[in-house]
Amino acid sequence: MAHDLRSGLWSTSPLYQNAVMDLDFAGKTAGMSPNVLERLKTPKKAMCVSVPVRMDDGSVKVFEGYRVQHSTTLGPGKGGIRFHPEVNLSEVSALAMLMTMKCSLVGLPLGGAKGGIRLDPSQLSRAEQQALTRRYTMEIISMIGPEQDVPAPDIGTDGQHMAWMMDTYSMAKGHAVPGVVTGKPIEIGGSLGRPESTGRGVVYVIEHAIDLLKRRGTAQYDLKKMTATVNGFGKVGAVAANELFIRGCKVVAVSDFYGGIYNKAGLNIPDVINYMNKNRTLKGYPNAEAISNEQLFALEVDILVPAAIDGVITKDNMKNIRAKIISEGANGPITSEAQHYLESQGVTIIPDILANAGGVIVSYFEWVQGLQQFFWSEKEVNEKLAEVMARAFNRTAETSDRYKCGMKTAALITSVERLSQAMLLRGLFP
Ligand code: GLU
Repeated sequence: MAHDLRSGLWSTSPLYQNAVMDLDFAGKTAGMSPNVLERLKTPKKAMCVSVPVRMDDGSVKVFEGYRVQHSTTLGPGKGGIRFHPEVNLSEVSALAMLMTMKCSLVGLPLGGAKGGIRLDPSQLSRAEQQALTRRYTMEIISMIGPEQDVPAPDIGTDGQHMAWMMDTYSMAKGHAVPGVVTGKPIEIGGSLGRPESTGRGVVYVIEHAIDLLKRRGTAQYDLKKMTATVNGFGKVGAVAANELFIRGCKVVAVSDFYGGIYNKAGLNIPDVINYMNKNRTLKGYPNAEAISNEQLFALEVDILVPAAIDGVITKDNMKNIRAKIISEGANGPITSEAQHYLESQGVTIIPDILANAGGVIVSYFEWVQGLQQFFWSEKEVNEKLAEVMARAFNRTAETSDRYKCGMKTAALITSVERLSQAMLLRGLFP
């Protein structure tokens, strides 16, 4: 019997299994080289670390941390650090794979990586989070660096965590190294527009999708006459909801982990954001009905933005979805099975690696601005972001026409085509 070369180490999470299924489907659709596909199914390198933290009460807790580099073919590893109770090696590996695909698709000279710590950050004080972030940075220090692998924020982390990572790395090197992370606060070399970039990008591609559907003659949409729902009201979802609101789209429902709010006449999103900032929850927001996340998914709207976490649209609820356009703000919110079903029903899905690429695109701008020590205005950042996203969207739409496939498969094909050219040119070492 042939010896199985894979132990299954990477592949325990549904997110990873879906990512491999999607890759295989894209490979089959475009007749891609199995040599390239096989290489892309597992990460290049991973580190698992224990992160002991002295808690405020004097006790010591030990957390599990990871950093995974999926590919560095196109440049340094790139991808966020997630603090979440579901983090594990397989999930982080899948997210690193998505980063490789994302960076390649939008044409950045960057590879794909991801990191994370398994914990619920809301249970830790600021001092505990600082200690955790610093010790984690020290444990993975041999893996990261401006030319090696550049972390950024993800779920549960923000500019403050990046500032602590940058400071810890700089202390170890003996001089300031701002390029070791992106998503930093402006004061230490961050880019204007970085915090809003992912949510903005999610809406840019919705506008492109509407234009595409018009060009194809399949629908005559106008964002001003459309309705939307947003699942996840954090760094991505709240900005996306606001960008939709600014454009005159009626956002009828938004939700977070604990549930959501609904108003048929449309929510005043800036007001909801103020309420959220003050109360740290959507619960109790006046002028709206309380709804569950499942009720939100089933609402009859034109646009749905799942911007919370992976695996929220599955075979269990895919038949309830009534939206016509879905822009994936989160990484992997729709399982492969649900994606194929929804596409067979005529739903346009703008895939995560395209829809939420705004974050890493502006991370790349931050890295470039830092290298040049020359910083751009927010207007310049947004214009350049819109340009890069438009190019990636058009390339994906062309691939979708060429292979008669959905946008998700088309995005993967476009991404792997670029990657495989680079892989073949560089050759296999040794
Ligand atoms: N965490 C974000 C993502 O999933 C941003 C990564 C980055 O900027 O490197 O795309």
